[in-house]
Amino acid sequence: MPSQTIDVIVLGAGIVGVSAALAIQARGRAVAIVDRMSQAASETSFGNSGIVQSEGILPYVFPRKPREIMRAALNRDPRAHIRYGALPSIAPALWRYFQASTEAGKTETAKAMAALVGAAGAEHRKLAAAANAGALLRETGWVKVWRSARGEALARKEIEELKPWGVSPVPLDRSALLALEPHVGEAAIGGAHYPDPLTTPDPQGLAQSYTALFLERGGRMEKGDATSLEPAASGWMVTTERGRLAARDVVIALGPWSNDLVRALGLRLPFFVKRGYHMHYEAKGNAGLGRPVLDLEKGYLIAPMKLGLRLTTGAEFARPEDASSPAHLARLEPFAREMFPIGPRKDAAPWLGRRPCLPDMRPIIGPFPGKPGLWLDFAHHHLGLTLGPISGRLLAEMMTGAPPIVDPAPFRAERFG
Ligand SMILES: Cc1cc2nc3c(=O)[nH]c(=O)nc-3n(C[C@H](O)[C@H](O)[C@H](O)COP(=O)(O)OP(=O)(O)OC[C@H]3O[C@@H](n4cnc5c(N)ncnc54)[C@H](O)[C@@H]3O)c2cc1C
Repeated sequence: MPSQTIDVIVLGAGIVGVSAALAIQARGRAVAIVDRMSQAASETSFGNSGIVQSEGILPYVFPRKPREIMRAALNRDPRAHIRYGALPSIAPALWRYFQASTEAGKTETAKAMAALVGAAGAEHRKLAAAANAGALLRETGWVKVWRSARGEALARKEIEELKPWGVSPVPLDRSALLALEPHVGEAAIGGAHYPDPLTTPDPQGLAQSYTALFLERGGRMEKGDATSLEPAASGWMVTTERGRLAARDVVIALGPWSNDLVRALGLRLPFFVKRGYHMHYEAKGNAGLGRPVLDLEKGYLIAPMKLGLRLTTGAEFARPEDASSPAHLARLEPFAREMFPIGPRKDAAPWLGRRPCLPDMRPIIGPFPGKPGLWLDFAHHHLGLTLGPISGRLLAEMMTGAPPIVDPAPFRAERFG
């Protein structure tokens, strides 16, 4: 089998891997991306809600109040869905998630994330401009709607918590909401507009435009299985369909599959996934939405996408490899139908994605402890689309010894001991 050498191999062609490849390439290294799929962004980076969440500073935390925990545990809170059969295997990581979800933990993560999240939109704008894909980023912001006084109180608490971070959503009464989104149903009594986040009608198209830019700039894309990674004479080696490829540096950016590889290489992390589904719908009549809208008390979102009105679900707690289940989407669809002008389903089956998570809701960006030449860029949980480009930049700066745009310490793998 022929063998070739390149400076850097990036394992994974999702938004995170492609963005890292571009950032490393921009610092003068020859880079190849290796993925088992023929097309970039065919997994999690295909099916998300398309929001560059530049307001996403506060982490999604595990419920702490006994009543909330009980509701979640009994599958009475539609914002999440537990597959009970998976509990024995996912309970240890969920316990760590619960432990990290204190007020102090939330503040620590918000502090770490603020700079990263705050710079995320600018990195996307730069890449999209260079890739001639500006039309795939829209300046719409997004909206969270509430159905009750309780929902409004939750939303207003979040608005207060965001103030110190310079995020200023605009509260909307029912008539202001209708002025912005005329087709939102009567169930919504008010909302909050987050005006700054960029949104995309085609997350896969956006990531593929970044991939095209990477290839145009001399990058390579190879089909191969990342689990073939092995130490080589002067670094690491992967087997691709076109032969062996060796590099001094290798980046693991396999999204929800990253943990399988890093565990095989000896690093144990409290990794888990929050699975999520999507389904596209026809719009009823001439109805539509101008921007993504979250039904915050029910925990699903509808986004206007190239493929139709995309409903995305909140977290399903299951093993990554568990079979797809219609249950969570079926619970949410009736709520969506009273809130939005959605008609028939467009997809034959719901799409299933997996948000790669760690308990402190921070990604890992940095070196693989004790394995020179191996780098980690994964666990971007609910924010992988948002954080792909800025994480790639931070990683490339660390690899090349440039001053990092944000302090990388909170993102190191060593924080898990
Ligand atoms: C329903 C839902 C809605 C979301 N909405 C948003 C949102 O609005 N905004 C936001 O910022 N984030 C959102 N996210 C999160 C975001 O989509 C993810 O964090 C992000 O896509 C992760 O990107 P990634 O590149 O790390 O992983 P992926 O996109 O999954 O890419 C991993 C790549 O690794 C490859 N791979 C896996 N195993 C191997 C192997 N053995 N060999 C070779 N290749 C392999 C896969 O083929 C794939 O191409 C959402 C997620 C879900 C599920």
